[in-house]
Amino acid sequence: MKVEVINKSENELVFTIDNINPVIANTLRRTIFVEVPVMAIKEVEFRKNSSALFDEILSHRLGLVPLTTDLKSYNLPDECKCKGEGCALCQVELFLFLKEEGMVYSKDIDSKDPKIKPAIAEIPIVELNKGQKLEFVATAVLGRGKEHMKFSPGHIYYKGYPEFNIENKSKAKEAIKLCKGLLVEKGDKVEITDFMKWNDACEQFCEENGVKINYSDTKFIFFLESWGQLEPKEIVMTALDILDKKLIDFEKSFSKAK
Ligand SMILES: [Zn+2]
Repeated sequence: MKVEVINKSENELVFTIDNINPVIANTLRRTIFVEVPVMAIKEVEFRKNSSALFDEILSHRLGLVPLTTDLKSYNLPDECKCKGEGCALCQVELFLFLKEEGMVYSKDIDSKDPKIKPAIAEIPIVELNKGQKLEFVATAVLGRGKEHMKFSPGHIYYKGYPEFNIENKSKAKEAIKLCKGLLVEKGDKVEITDFMKWNDACEQFCEENGVKINYSDTKFIFFLESWGQLEPKEIVMTALDILDKKLIDFEKSFSKAK
C-alpha cells in the first residue's frame, strides 16, 4: 500500500492510496462520513425569541452550525461514565446573550469551552428587526453522521486513478498539446502532471485523440473537505482508529464464538 498526498489546505485534503480494492476504499469513505464523531448543538432552550422564525426552525439552523471539536476532552454520550445523562465530559453549553436589531451570526454564539465554538464565523442565523429579541442557551454533544448529518465531519468522495493507454501515437501528441501542460509523455505512456487542474475537457481531448482512459480499481484518489470541526488529517486518522477498534471487537467476538 502506498499513500501520497496530492494537495492539502486548511480544510481540504486530496490523497491517493495505491494497492487496495474498491471495498476498502468505500469502507474508508463510509467510516469518515458516518462514524467519525464531531460536536453539534443538540438542544436549545430559548430565553427570548421574538424573531420572525419559530423556535423549531432556529434550533434546526443552530444544529447545523459546525462546531470546532476536541475529541480528546469529550466522550460520546453513550460511552460516557454518566451513561448519557449529560456531564462535563460529554456535553458543553453555548449561549447567545440578548441580541436586538440586526443580523445574528454564528460568531455571536459564546461557549463555556473556548475549544468548542462555531467553526465558521459568518453564518447568518436570523435577522432581527426593530423591537425583536433573541437569547438562548444551547447544549452541544458529540455525535456520529449515522445519527444525523449535522454530526458529519465533512464531504468525502473517491474515484479510480486514471491510467492512459495510447492507441494512436501520432494523434496522442495532439491530446498532450490541447491539455496545455496537464499531460506529459513518459516513454510509451502519458501521465497527469497536476491532478487538481485535470478536468472533463482534457478527458474529452484524450478520448478524441487516441488516448484511452481507464480508471484503476486498485489505486484511488480521495477528495476530503472538512466542514471545519476537525482538521482533514485528524478526520482520516480518527476513521482509521475506529476501523481498528471494530476489527479488534470482531476478533474478540470471533475468538469466543463456538
Ligand atoms: Zn457524560
